[in-house]
Amino acid sequence: MVGLTKRDEIFFSLYTAGCEVRISETLRCHTSIRIGGDVEYFVVPFTAESLVAAVEILEDAGLKWRVLGAGTNILASDEETCAVISTKHLTGIWFTEKGVIAEAGVIVDRLIELAILKGLSGLEFASGLPGTLGGAVTMNAGAFGGEMAGLVQSAECLMPDMRTVKLDRNEMQFGYRTSAFRRAGAVILRVSLKMTKNDISSIKARRREILNCRILKQPLQLPSAGSVFIRPMADFYVGSKIEGLGFKGYRVGDAEVSTKHAGFIVNKGNASQRDVLILIEKLRKAVYEDTGHWLQTELDIW
Ligand SMILES: Cc1cc2nc3c(=O)[nH]c(=O)nc-3n(C[C@H](O)[C@H](O)[C@H](O)COP(=O)(O)OP(=O)(O)OC[C@H]3O[C@@H](n4cnc5c(N)ncnc54)[C@H](O)[C@@H]3O)c2cc1C
Repeated sequence: MVGLTKRDEIFFSLYTAGCEVRISETLRCHTSIRIGGDVEYFVVPFTAESLVAAVEILEDAGLKWRVLGAGTNILASDEETCAVISTKHLTGIWFTEKGVIAEAGVIVDRLIELAILKGLSGLEFASGLPGTLGGAVTMNAGAFGGEMAGLVQSAECLMPDMRTVKLDRNEMQFGYRTSAFRRAGAVILRVSLKMTKNDISSIKARRREILNCRILKQPLQLPSAGSVFIRPMADFYVGSKIEGLGFKGYRVGDAEVSTKHAGFIVNKGNASQRDVLILIEKLRKAVYEDTGHWLQTELDIW
């Protein structure tokens, strides 16, 4: 076709490879903290195979890209970014006698609800976790005494050298909020989880208990990206420390240390990435001066 711009060509390639494509999409609409500037190419593949094709197209065009799950652990830039590939259409789920195989874009909380209907137990610890399965496995998400590492049997992923490989659990090198996928920059496509048969009412009771606990302790009604900092050691409660230092309700612009749980930063309106970063530095310095621990962020800064 004559007269096509480079942008048109990339758009058509992505579109014909099986992707929904939006130009100049606002990332703020796709992150739970409601922060993020425009993305030149917002790409939503319909299948895992289309996702691989999308990565090839963006790489060939020399464009920098990132993969996005539900955006619940991301603090995105206020500036324009090049390309984001969202897994939100990768929602296939196949239950087996011993567990489930699910695609990366499945919301963990939805998977728990469906597993309960099958009487399958093991994932309830993650009740209320708002992210996708791909995001949760990459981050080795954990809560209420459990973590994803305890369930994952194998995962298919796209490696940075464009090989699609299946990793077994002993190759995943899970650590506290990290994994081999995260370290290598691999994109998870499908995951197999081991679960066990259990009585439906006891799985439901455990789930209800955890959801109640989240309602009681977390600022669920306001935009946030979950816990901001990683615990520097097992019995160090970052939220309690920040609260003890008097920072509950402390604000930079519209970014506020939650008045409900000081381990969360909430967006009270129009907070920017810059506001949150300034607030993070302020909290880090205060905690360092008090304890000697320099806190690392749990949320991913883009
Ligand atoms: C209210 C609230 C409560 C939370 N509670 C918890 C909690 O109890 N425990 C906990 O651990 N976390 C918690 N979180 C944080 C977050 O939900 C988890 O880390 C979640 O697993 C992130 O998944 P996501 O799909 O949103 O990932 P995103 O935020 O979209 O992405 C996070 C990182 O994972 C990468 N990624 C996403 N999908 C893939 C993929 N398919 N392959 C490879 N990399 C990928 C992204 O590139 C990014 O680097 C909470 C967040 C909120 C807002």
